[in-house]
Amino acid sequence: MNLDFTPEDLAFREDVRAFLKASLPDDLRAKMINRDHLGKADIVRWQRILNARGWAVPAWPVDDGGQPWSPTQRYIFQEEMALAHAPEGSPFNVNMIGPILCKFGTDAQKAKFLAATANIDIWWCQGFSEPGAGSDLAALKTSAVRDGDDYVLNGQKIWTTQAQHADWMFALVRTDASGRKQQGITFLLLDMKTPGITIRPIPSIDGISDLNEVFFDDVRVPVGNRIGEEGRGWDYAKHLLGHERSGIARIGLSKERLAQLRHLEGELGGSGRIDERERARLRRKLAEVEVELRALELTQLRVVAADAQGGGANSAASILKVKGTELQQRMTELVAELAGPAGIATPSHDATDHGDHGWEAAATPYYFTMRKVSIFGGSNEIQKNIIAKTILRL
Ligand SMILES: Cc1cc2nc3c(=O)[nH]c(=O)nc-3n(C[C@H](O)[C@H](O)[C@H](O)COP(=O)(O)OP(=O)(O)OC[C@H]3O[C@@H](n4cnc5c(N)ncnc54)[C@H](O)[C@@H]3O)c2cc1C
Repeated sequence: MNLDFTPEDLAFREDVRAFLKASLPDDLRAKMINRDHLGKADIVRWQRILNARGWAVPAWPVDDGGQPWSPTQRYIFQEEMALAHAPEGSPFNVNMIGPILCKFGTDAQKAKFLAATANIDIWWCQGFSEPGAGSDLAALKTSAVRDGDDYVLNGQKIWTTQAQHADWMFALVRTDASGRKQQGITFLLLDMKTPGITIRPIPSIDGISDLNEVFFDDVRVPVGNRIGEEGRGWDYAKHLLGHERSGIARIGLSKERLAQLRHLEGELGGSGRIDERERARLRRKLAEVEVELRALELTQLRVVAADAQGGGANSAASILKVKGTELQQRMTELVAELAGPAGIATPSHDATDHGDHGWEAAATPYYFTMRKVSIFGGSNEIQKNIIAKTILRL
């Protein structure tokens, strides 16, 4: 298997680099470097810049607004975005509902949603998980009962990221409870302004309220908003989750974080804030992370090369998700270690203090919030079950 980049790939990399250098606004780049929270306006602004270049949804089919890039070029694009400190677009729009609409949507649904989804004129949220139906997603209970040309929904979703911003939700609901739990699930598109929808925020440990509970009380959804056939929602959801996990290893992001860690270690050592013994200990840890990251990158490149030659391994996404998220978390531990006590200092109550506490103050909230990456998109334990079944055949 050839893992080298072709001259065309290298020229493509230069194109992407030049575009990012010219087009990424400085304030967004600074927010990414400082690990500041990106608001809706930031994400929308950047996705529209990408969309104007035709690069907001490169993995979609060309006829639906995508790019005719090879898997290798898609990998290069993702890596360059991360290395340039560019924000990611909305995963719900780009990686989840977009590909589902392209593959299973009717012409009317594509006409209504695709362009608006690429440009984030519509902000989507994902209504899959419920209390008691996370890892065991097929246990979901929100009911949708057919009444004329509508379904009438009752039930609850939970952990719905950014539902507070959402114009539309893509949701799994139960239209039949009589057979196997994977049967009788239907995939619906819901306008979040429909009467009967209540959103309740769940505060998270980093102080940001991006998670929500969403309640449905006799919510009417036109049958025309159903994806595909009634009762086949589980098949469409599996397709969507495959897309959700691809790219979840975020190797470019980890490379950028590692470079930042090395830079911080140099600065702290140079200023005498950490002594030589401590520096040697930190450098050894950074070297260990680098070795693992390089190994993961090679695995990712092997998957990309196999994909380009038409045969990807079906458990590869699970392997990349587990290892990639472990490394992302490891790096947040190292940032917290470098920050030391400054990372847990409480902000001052001085009225002249305008809240710029630098990277140290961001280190602890970032450490906490990144615990989530091994849970969402299917927890790492569930990914290990998939690996055990598909590779080890346990
Ligand atoms: C930050 C964040 C954002 C999210 N955003 C969304 C969203 O926008 N939309 C949405 O629908 N959902 C979202 N989720 C929900 C996410 O998909 C679920 O949290 C996840 O699937 C786990 O489900 P659960 O929370 O019900 O935990 P559970 O399924 O109850 O699992 C609890 C623990 O048991 C382990 N476990 C469960 N079953 C097994 C098993 N068979 N073998 C081994 N271990 C097992 C799990 O790994 C976990 O550690 C989000 C979650 C988080 C943390």
